[in-house]
Amino acid sequence: ATPTAIIVASGIAARLGIFIRDAQTMERMNEIDTIIFDKTGTLTQGKLSVENFSGKEENRKILASIERKSNHPIARAIAENYTGEILSVENVEEIAGSGLKATISGKQYFVGSENMMKTLGVSIPKETNTTSVYLTNGEEILSSVRLHDEIKPEAKTILQELVQMKKEVVLLSGDKRIVAEQTAELLNLSKENVYAEVLPDEKAEIVLSFQNQGKKVLMAGDGVNDAAALSIAEVGVAMGSGSDIAIESSDVTFLDGNLKKIIQLFYLSKRTLTKIR
Ligand code: ADP
Ligand code: MG
Repeated sequence: ATPTAIIVASGIAARLGIFIRDAQTMERMNEIDTIIFDKTGTLTQGKLSVENFSGKEENRKILASIERKSNHPIARAIAENYTGEILSVENVEEIAGSGLKATISGKQYFVGSENMMKTLGVSIPKETNTTSVYLTNGEEILSSVRLHDEIKPEAKTILQELVQMKKEVVLLSGDKRIVAEQTAELLNLSKENVYAEVLPDEKAEIVLSFQNQGKKVLMAGDGVNDAAALSIAEVGVAMGSGSDIAIESSDVTFLDGNLKKIIQLFYLSKRTLTKIR
């Protein structure tokens, strides 16, 4: 049976907006020595602002119409920024960690990252040091968007506290290396602890590689691209604002994304364990 102390602690956690799926999570929290954070929507607010939307109006319309089909934070930002007419889009296929594939009036398009364009063999006019999304017909870049995201206001302090608690902190991102490193710098995190341009499967592999070194991992994320990593970690923590699949793959959900909840969860688990033993 579940010890009373855990039931009580789960109740306290719920009042703090921390929802815990099973009783073992509290106990597993006490073993955690490594904390891996996804970037977009976990360390950052995930409410991106559009800095620049380039290309002919017709192509911008295509890009925005395709992005309306996705729930990715980048897609939402673009859809909100574009107020023009929307085209009807068919055969939409989301490629987690890369972008989207779709057809409009019988023509096929791809919308996604620099790496996606490289994989398609489409050259990019000039690379930027911001989060970027491109539209291509498979031959050339038709339109592009540059976006900016802010780190959460509490992120730096919380990471510092975790380091003081002797936890190893790692940043894991599908975004470009340069952007991930800029974020790390703002958070006082060393470049060695940054893994960038990683695909969803690679996110899970990185969690596994820490586990193979004997580390006990808490993974925090919000996206479809984090789901595999969240489910394989000792403790998976999803942001309540995140995708359903991230939440379903996790042991814990934070009602709001305030990172202070990680510290609260550690303290609550420690106190609970003292009571059980
Ligand atoms: P993160 O790990 O930072 O949360 P993702 O793995 O979700 O990022 O995405 C990595 C990159 O792939 C993004 O920076 C973006 O360039 C591209 N991308 C992913 N999904 C989409 C989408 N729906 N629309 C446009 N670009 C996308
Ligand atoms: Mg994310």
